[in-house]
Amino acid sequence: MAHEQHPVEVVSEGRAAVYEEPIGPAGVRIRDRPRTEPQPGSVAVAIRTASINHLDLWLAHGAQRIPPPRVIGADGAGVVQASGDPAWKPGDEVVLFPTLCDWECEWCRAGENVRCPRFGVLGEHSDGAACELVHIDARSVFHKPVGLSWEEAAAFPLTFLTAWRMLNTRAHLRADETVLVIGAGAGVAVAAIQIAKHLGARVLATSRSEAKRKRALELGADAVFDSGAFSKAVREATNDGVDVVFEHVGPATLEESMRSLAMGGRVVTCGSTSGVKAEVTMPRLFFRQASLLGSTMGNASEFEDLLKAIDRGLRPVVDSVYPLDEVQAALTRLDASEQFGKVVLSVSS
Ligand SMILES: [Zn+2]
Repeated sequence: MAHEQHPVEVVSEGRAAVYEEPIGPAGVRIRDRPRTEPQPGSVAVAIRTASINHLDLWLAHGAQRIPPPRVIGADGAGVVQASGDPAWKPGDEVVLFPTLCDWECEWCRAGENVRCPRFGVLGEHSDGAACELVHIDARSVFHKPVGLSWEEAAAFPLTFLTAWRMLNTRAHLRADETVLVIGAGAGVAVAAIQIAKHLGARVLATSRSEAKRKRALELGADAVFDSGAFSKAVREATNDGVDVVFEHVGPATLEESMRSLAMGGRVVTCGSTSGVKAEVTMPRLFFRQASLLGSTMGNASEFEDLLKAIDRGLRPVVDSVYPLDEVQAALTRLDASEQFGKVVLSVSS
């Protein structure tokens, strides 16, 4: 065991949004950390923009049982300041791959980073991107899509990667199929609507908010439904159900999601914001040849495919931009479910 330097640990420096106490947004505070030079194999990225996700809130509420202190943020974009790897040079504009892995195990070498024994999420199982300077493994850095603003560049990695893997790799959504996206408004659901349209599928969406249903239509959804007992209306609007349901809410909607499926349909889920245990009506699963699929984050190859789709015109929706110093207000906006799309932090300009 001569070399234990891989993977390079993520180190977050400079002014940083640090989770310190499990009391919600008020427990995330701005602190100043000393800066260091990059280690071999790592890149130091001066962060321009970061964005927050629901998992930052769970962390802030203590639900993830991650011991503080921890710099939050799975999403970051910025400029290479110094590099300990020949693949990158100062001035390169980059985005961070939000999946943590060791890059070296059998799964990683087979391209399955999500099955790595050291799998994790940037800003949850390591320090994160909501800070001025991130030291990160050179393999976790990708060129920033040229067509995106800095705000947009921090708005897509986690949600779009998650939704991309769910719809493509897991649910195999096809252009001639219909997908129902639950809870439009959440970052991952907005990404799902956009990716599904990009793939050419027919897209239906639900939200309890009329304003968010309107936004979903503007984004390209073909029809929208209220979140309460939507399955009857969905079945009437389709040829007896949809091919894929995109889930992230869990117990509050799973029964209606299963009821919305056509014969042979798939429910794919990446989360359960309404609770961790759900009931499934078993005959609906087996008599209708249905599939219930789980998914989390995504692989580097899927991130590359996503970057190509962005170059072909896919663009994330930015809900709002807060200065890093106002991270508590940004988290509070997410906590109140007021957002449509991504809440972005502006770190430096
Ligand atoms: Zn691995």
